[in-house]
Amino acid sequence: MMLKEKIAVVTGASRGIGKAIALELAQAGAYVIVNYNGSKERAEKVVSEIEQKGGKAEAVWCNVSDGAACEAMIRQVIEVHKKIDILVNNAGITKDSLLMRMSEADFDRVLDTNLKGTFFTMHYAARYMMKQRSGAIVNISSVVGVSGNAGQVNYAASKAGVIGMTKSAAKELASRGIRVNAVAPGFIDTEMTQSLKEKVITELAKQIPLGHLGKAAQVAKAVRFLASDDADYITGQVLCVDGGMVM
Ligand code: NAP
Repeated sequence: MMLKEKIAVVTGASRGIGKAIALELAQAGAYVIVNYNGSKERAEKVVSEIEQKGGKAEAVWCNVSDGAACEAMIRQVIEVHKKIDILVNNAGITKDSLLMRMSEADFDRVLDTNLKGTFFTMHYAARYMMKQRSGAIVNISSVVGVSGNAGQVNYAASKAGVIGMTKSAAKELASRGIRVNAVAPGFIDTEMTQSLKEKVITELAKQIPLGHLGKAAQVAKAVRFLASDDADYITGQVLCVDGGMVM
């Protein structure tokens, strides 16, 4: 129970990697705010699953691309729980197409959710973490933000941006006892990757030294580590959970 009595916010926790992170942090003893945007019922199911296992959680709506909604979510957490110990910025979307065909709207939607959303929640949560003089922020980037990927200039830009923002925030906030790290997953079996054709998945797997796609729970374990005091001398780092894809 490494995270006993910790208050953790996980964005985009209604499914996929975010859900796995919420379950993992709750299992380690944290009270988890399960954020969702469109999937209210699924977020409530995540809360039920946590409670059935003896943990504590609640579902809270917030569209992370909306700054006012992020401010309201963080303010609500503080009003109810009086503190925020852990913030995991996991909410993310893709709108893939080749550079020549990509619309400005698809570029903006991905940047607004993945990059600006991470900025908004950090911006509002950091205020309280600075007063507390403690906190751990884990931002979910992607190996694509490190290596690039054809058909994903918007997504790769957003995830590279998350890495730059993580390192900058880590430098700004370190003196206040706040650590900021990123986890960069490789190809993980979630709804985001399930739309890929079988042939594409087989080809992708060939580029992974460990030979297969990862599981959301494997990413969640890395997040739990970085969020815990076991990582109390680690800040500004990017931990790839990718079966060795990027090294
Ligand atoms: P997913 O299954 O598509 O789930 C995405 C989650 O993000 C959902 O819970 C969704 O919530 C939430 N979300 C989307 N837009 C949101 C918004 N505006 N406000 C709040 N929540 C929002 O994706 P995933 O595969 O679990 O990915 C999770 C994170 O890992 C993303 O940041 C993704 O870029 C990153 N990642 C994934 C992979 C991979 O291979 N799967 C690899 C590298 C990085 P609602 O349904 O409630 O809207």
